[in-house]
Order: sequence, then structure tokens, then C-alpha cells
Amino acid sequence: MTATRVELAGRHVTVAGLGVSGVPAAIVLRDLGAHVTVVNDGDDERARAQAAELEALGIRVRLGDGATLPEGTELIVTTPGWRPDKPLFAAAAEAGVPIWGDVELAWRLRDTPSGRAPAPWLAVTGTNGKTTTVQMLASILRAAGLRTAAVGNIGVSLLDVVLGDEPYDVLAVELSSYQLHWAPSIRAHSAVVLNLAPDHLDWHGSMEAYAADKGRIYEGNQVACVYNVADPATEALVREADVEEGARAIGFTLGSPRPSEFGVVDGILLDRAFVEDRQKNAQELAEVSDINPPAPHNIANALAAAALARAFGVPPAAVRDGLRAFTPDAHRIAHVATVNDVAYVDDSKATNTHAAEASLAAYEPIVWIAGGLAKGATFDDLVTGAAKRLRGVVLIGADRGLIREALARHAPEVPVVDLDRTDTGAMAAAVAAAAGLAHPGDTVLLAPACASMDMFANYNVRGDAFAQAVRDLPTGT
Ligand code: ADP
Repeated sequence: MTATRVELAGRHVTVAGLGVSGVPAAIVLRDLGAHVTVVNDGDDERARAQAAELEALGIRVRLGDGATLPEGTELIVTTPGWRPDKPLFAAAAEAGVPIWGDVELAWRLRDTPSGRAPAPWLAVTGTNGKTTTVQMLASILRAAGLRTAAVGNIGVSLLDVVLGDEPYDVLAVELSSYQLHWAPSIRAHSAVVLNLAPDHLDWHGSMEAYAADKGRIYEGNQVACVYNVADPATEALVREADVEEGARAIGFTLGSPRPSEFGVVDGILLDRAFVEDRQKNAQELAEVSDINPPAPHNIANALAAAALARAFGVPPAAVRDGLRAFTPDAHRIAHVATVNDVAYVDDSKATNTHAAEASLAAYEPIVWIAGGLAKGATFDDLVTGAAKRLRGVVLIGADRGLIREALARHAPEVPVVDLDRTDTGAMAAAVAAAAGLAHPGDTVLLAPACASMDMFANYNVRGDAFAQAVRDLPTGT
């Protein structure tokens, strides 16, 4: 079924899953005249409240059974979090019913009734750094006087933006691997895969499947496929993609840029891609000190954002101004306080090993607070790389045993405090234990390398608990 909003009228659409993306999708589809049924696995109080809200609008809701395909379904619109191996999707495949995620739906609906040309997408994915890069990009685009928004997997719904009245010149779109999996036809103006490390493998089934879903972001790119020179897997995805005639592969590197690359020389960010005679010339964009914080992984994010902005024709001065105007979101390498000459840093957003590796590389010596839900990850490489910098480790959370075992294998001399508790006071105990291990001049770093949901509602709550525990530490002892 191809679709415009007109074609959805009268169609039988099943929305898979309630929640933050299912509920608005169901309402949008109903507003477009579709016959909507929402199916949901759970049947708890929250689901019932959401169901009542939808039923009042004439939307059918089936609670406690997300597996059977409702009769007559012509299209499924799924919550990105639903795993592809769900029985509902097998039933859909058998019946020849297409499956779209929320991003696919937004893409199909972006032709506004006013006839205004839809805003092109500059798209960002990667295992880590997506939110930061998209926000840097939006800041740069704004500095160039363009009407833009950072949207997608960052709390601002693409559907709202696409259907809203606000006219945009261009959108900075963050896409998760789940969203890309369910978005077969999106075509970005330009896109980047920032990096690729094992994450969410329980959802995708394998590293190959995860990489393939990320790689979809390059399909049909019009101007630039931006990749990470230090991560050849990202370049391989560019090579595999089917792009528009004339679209270019553009690399970014923390080193000196070759032609068609963005890079750094003597603390200056350089564009050697969108300049005349790139064999000989490079354009200065900004200084490393314009980036906040100027940690290596964040310089990489800035280069990627700059590459997408320059692909869109943004002038060099706007790159500098946009980077200067950018401040990172909370819980991303945030300095909380220095207590008794020990710095306490909250990188609760480091929810996988690749992110934790980046922040562990930024400090020394470190008392590391780690643990939570491992999501299928292993910790040998992370521990081996960080071993020399570790003063001590405090372990929390459900899968802490995996990290403890990796430490025993690769850093047996590092002292470990293993906290066997998951109550609300556990973070205070972890911070107290870390304070006990730290020497003056050390950094206590919360970079869990794991998801938070075993102990906290999300990584924000985990980071807030850490910051509160730091503020409660006795001083001068
Ligand atoms: P995402 O949206 O992909 O989760 P964020 O920008 O929110 O990315 O950053 C998440 C965490 O990943 C940060 O706390 C930081 O530790 C780490 N990080 C950010 N950028 C990078 C990068 N380019 N490479 C590795 N780790 C990174």
C-alpha cells in the first residue's frame, strides 16, 4: 500500500503498542480517516487509562493480546520498541500486510496539504552521540538563519513536526536503529552513521542485522553520506548503500583531513570536502575550544554535525557560531561537584560499553561506578582498555556480575566494591563507597555501560540520584 493522507482514509490500520509513540500515532491515523485498532500486550492500569482515552475518540483497543492480527488489517503502524520477531509481525508478513514505524509514517505524511515543499531531512544515527550531534547540528543551522528543529528519537515527535503548521527549511533528525528498521522508504538529503558498536543486540538478533538497520539511513541520500574514518564499518555501510546520482561519501576524522574529509589540524576544525579545489584547499570552520566539552568523542560529533550542515550549504561562520551556542544535555559527562578534592562526573547517559569507553578515556585516575542492565553486552574490551586508569570500581545493578568477572580476568589488582542492593538508597551507598576508594585528584565517574531500568525509571533518574548523593556527601572528612 502506498500512502498519502488521503489514501489512509477508510483503511484498516492496526497500531502495535500503546505508549509514547503508539497513542499519538493512533490519534493521527484516526484524524486522517483510518479505521484504527490498537493492540497491546499489557493490560495494566496505565494501559487501561490510555485505552479509555483512545476509545473515547472512536479508536478500538485490544489489551492483553498483542500477538493476533486483527481481521481486515491493511497496514500495521508499530511502536519502534517492538521487536521484529513478534508473532504479530510474522502474521502480517504471511498476510502481505506492510509494517511501518512512526518515522515511516511521518515520512509518508510530510507532503503538506498546503503544497509547501516538505523540509529536507539531515539524518543522524550511530551507537553513541546521536542526541548531541543532532542538537549541535540544529544549533549550527539556526546560526545560519534557517528555520529548523531537532526532532525524532529525542523527545520531539517527527509526526507532530511534519503535520504541524510551522514551516521549516530543514530538519535535524535523530534516528534510532529501531526506527530505521521500520522505516524502509525514508530518503535523507544527507546522513551520518557516527559509529557502530554492539548495542541492542537482543532486539536486532545480531551485529549484522543491527549494522544493516543503521545503514538504511544512507539509502537514497541526495548530497552527502557522512562516515567516521576511525570506524571503517560506517564507511562500509556507505559503500553498500544505493544513493542518488552525485551523492558523495564524506569522512570525518580527529586527524588531518584528506580530500573529501572533515578533520582537525592544530586545534582548528577544517572542511576539505565542500571547498573549491579540495586537493589543495581546506576551509577553517571553528576551533576545538568552541566545542563544549572539547572531549575527543565530542569533537567527532561536532565534525559530523559540521559536515551535514556544510552539505546543506551552511556558511563556515555559522558552524563556529552554532558550536559556540551549543550546551550539552544533562547526564552527559556533567561535572556535578568537587568534594574533598575529588571530582564527581555524571555520565549516566553512557548506557552501553562504547559510550562508557569514551568517558573512561577522558579521565585518570578514575573510581568507576558501573552496572545495570547489560542488554547482551560483554565487558572484556572495555575493562582491558580502562584497567590502567582505574583506582577502584563500585558495581551496582542486575548484571554487575558480568563486569565483576571481566575485572577479575583483566584487572585483578583493582579493588572492587560489589553492592548487592537495588533499593532507592543504593546510589547513595555507591557514591559513599566510591568516595572511600578515591584519592585527592581522582575522578569518580558514573558511566554505567548499562541501561538503568533494573533500578531506576531511566538514565535521568539514575543521574539525578547520583548528583543528590554527591551533594549529600560529608565534606572536609
Ligand atoms: P545517543 O543519543 O546516541 O545516546 P548522546 O549524545 O546522548 O548519544 O550521548 C550518549 C553518551 O554517549 C554520552 O554520555 C557519552 O558518554 C557518549 N558519547 C557521545 N558521543 C560519543 C561518540 N561520538 N562516541 C562515543 N561515545 C559518545
